Amino acid sequence: MFYDEQLLSLTHRFEDYQRHYGAVSPPVYLNSLHLFPTFEEYLDADTASEDCFVYGRVSNPTTRLLERKLAALENGKDAAVFSSGMAAATTAILATCRAGDHILSMRDVYQPVKRFMSAIGVPRLNLTCDYVSGLDLGEIERAIRPNTRLMILESPATFVFTVVDLRAIASLCRKHGVLTYIDNTYCTPLFQNPLDLGVDIVMHTLSKYLGGHSDVIGGALIVNDESLMRDIARNVREYFGGILGPMEAWLVLRGLRSLDARLKAHQQTAMRVASFLEGHSLVRKVYYTGLPSHPQAETISRQMRGHTGLMSFELDRPKEDAARMINQLKLFGKGCSWGGFESLALCPLYRASDEEMRFLGLQNRGLIRIHCGLEGEDNLIGDLRQALDSIEACEPARPQ
Ligand SMILES: *Cc1c(COP(=O)(O)O)cnc(C)c1O
Repeated sequence: MFYDEQLLSLTHRFEDYQRHYGAVSPPVYLNSLHLFPTFEEYLDADTASEDCFVYGRVSNPTTRLLERKLAALENGKDAAVFSSGMAAATTAILATCRAGDHILSMRDVYQPVKRFMSAIGVPRLNLTCDYVSGLDLGEIERAIRPNTRLMILESPATFVFTVVDLRAIASLCRKHGVLTYIDNTYCTPLFQNPLDLGVDIVMHTLSKYLGGHSDVIGGALIVNDESLMRDIARNVREYFGGILGPMEAWLVLRGLRSLDARLKAHQQTAMRVASFLEGHSLVRKVYYTGLPSHPQAETISRQMRGHTGLMSFELDRPKEDAARMINQLKLFGKGCSWGGFESLALCPLYRASDEEMRFLGLQNRGLIRIHCGLEGEDNLIGDLRQALDSIEACEPARPQ
């Protein structure tokens, strides 16, 4: 009867209006514990059941509603939500790996995950980690060792929006007994569903488009395997204590209602911004998954259903001019993160070391990353045009 299950999950699915006096917005269960009619019923509480809640560090009705929606949105069996995207990412590692295990990771995954590996995973937990581009199946297969347990993916990855063939990598890893994990934040569940392509663990930060209003920090893991979910939620999350709070869960539930409408607007704006940038004489190169010029356009058309508001571009100028251009922007805020209503701009590699640049295989520290918010395409293009034109009118900065 319904052809778009995802839109129903964003809106009505799993809501129980009658239980809450017909309230169209679910209550925030701001409680730390739940009471039972008798001590025996407390002792026998079946915490595995959908309707049984005991203590807020383990589960909460508002938080649970969000988990059910996220699981449905990713075509997963179950989801667990966390107090941040990083709590979710590190939980995925802790729930799958043990001391002595080897991890493979793409080079351009979210930097704090790599820093977690070098600060904690390798020196304190006795894991080892090797990095690959993700673009070459042979390179991945050669890097897999007998003790490789997990492959960490992010596609599209931020910086230059590298896209990798998820179905092929998942199948190769499965053949070698390696679990696959992907940070699916860029696409949101609406534009890419990696579990359907054979990936084992999908991670989202809720702090970007899913929350959508730059007012909440949270993360999620979604899987199809029940015993893996037990390790994630019952073991690691319960003992590290990183569950998402009910108020934050409610904010994300509210964000989900408008996710589809917001993403359509972000996509439409970003498509026009990307074409405008590609046509500007000061711009050398634009990195956006929606452009036909993207080097993995064919893979994109197979595994993604849309494009969001994030992109990067390079100027035909030194990095100091990229910084000046950002400062000329009036509507684009100067700050990290993305996925909210607001437009943002920065140079994520401005202070990257030579070693880091070589490692990433990138040359330009002046790479500008922008998030196209909801201020309207004409306003954003106008702002970018005046900033680019004003830099073009000046002599190039002398590199420092
Ligand atoms: C922001 C971000 C994260 C981290 O999420 P937090 O909620 O800030 O911990 C992870 N991956 C990507 C791609 C992100 O943009």
